[in-house]
Amino acid sequence: MKSLFAVKGNIIYTKELGKFEVCEQGYIVVEDDEIIGVFSELEEKYKEIEVIDYGDNLLIPGFVDLHVHAPQYPNIGLGLDKELMPWLETYTFPEESKYKDITYAEKVYSRFVHDLWKHGTTRAVVFGTIHKEATKRLMDLFAEAGLGAYVGKVNMDRNSPEFLCEETQNSIDDTLEIVKEYKDKYELVKPIITPRFVPSCTPELMEELGKIAKEYNVPVQSHLSENFGEICFVKELHPDAPFYGSIYDMYGLFGDTPTIMAHCVLCSEDEVNLIAEKGVFIAHNPNSNCNLASGIAPIRRLLARGIHIGLGSDVSGGHTLSMAHACVITSQVSNIKWIQSDRIDKPLSTADAFYLATKGGGAFFGKVGSFEPGYKFDCLVIDDSCLPHFKPLTVMERLQKYLYTGDDRNIKARYVNGKLVNEPKVIA
Ligand SMILES: [Zn+2]
Repeated sequence: MKSLFAVKGNIIYTKELGKFEVCEQGYIVVEDDEIIGVFSELEEKYKEIEVIDYGDNLLIPGFVDLHVHAPQYPNIGLGLDKELMPWLETYTFPEESKYKDITYAEKVYSRFVHDLWKHGTTRAVVFGTIHKEATKRLMDLFAEAGLGAYVGKVNMDRNSPEFLCEETQNSIDDTLEIVKEYKDKYELVKPIITPRFVPSCTPELMEELGKIAKEYNVPVQSHLSENFGEICFVKELHPDAPFYGSIYDMYGLFGDTPTIMAHCVLCSEDEVNLIAEKGVFIAHNPNSNCNLASGIAPIRRLLARGIHIGLGSDVSGGHTLSMAHACVITSQVSNIKWIQSDRIDKPLSTADAFYLATKGGGAFFGKVGSFEPGYKFDCLVIDDSCLPHFKPLTVMERLQKYLYTGDDRNIKARYVNGKLVNEPKVIA
């Protein structure tokens, strides 16, 4: 039997970039996992269905984090006065080597999944480590929690410290094992091919990963044109490649299956053209880009090219899992970009940033991130009554105030795929 219910409250979401849709004291009618529609009054045929009334609270789509590293969670807030390459060597690689220990992995990963839930991230695209068993456990933990995720076993077989460098064939075999075992295991949690970035993957490995992606129709995620030092290193390794992204493309890792490239701060014109042509998603990580001195991605220009863009927390290059915070810093850095571009690249409004954090990134999961008919019902219930209000505010103003000054304590309930998701267990 199908389940039919409605949630009632002050509904706010974005169908398109830059424009909020608001329905005060409205109803979202949901059938199983999907939204039937948003209504200001319940039609006669829905008069008998269960209505969950959230009173004066805000109802917003769940947040989508398009780029985050689960094993870096213990390092959150550490080493952020370094640039990308030294930060990787000093902090990230030593931490990531610990995940060969499944007990340690379970302890960190259960807390990581819990804290994504806490911050209202209902879907995430996640890097694991090179370790097969820990990555499988991470996928199981997401599924047990009821959150949506793509999770990747990271591939690294060159230019990596000895304690975090794979044999090429092992890297391929482990990836294939996970893809076969997890491709259809869960509805909401899926594997994703995850070459760390060009410097840490041999051409032979990338070629085989491209073949796996194609044969099993698995999506791909990696890093692209993030930081000046990184790009110089890629040029040294591949002097004949016309640009960084062309190397992924050569091996079938650039939009032949759905693909996310994180950062894209310093892409050349040719690189942007290929991203647009091949429908590659960009994960914009402004928090991390500020911390690791990478720069400001030209998001307004990339949007104008029709490129799919979502936001990422990029923990632990970024220092918070909060996607509300990601919205705020997206707007802030776009203001600086506007000044730097002689006021050509128009700043991103709150509605623009909110769109990127919900429907923009949600598109990678299908119909996710909006309350339009046919979308999966992922929803956060926001109680902003404890935030200081000294005058009447519109629903839009209340959302803005929550994004800028609220935190996880304002989130009263979370729905994913039509289901209320309770607090996940943390394994001590
Ligand atoms: Zn990253």
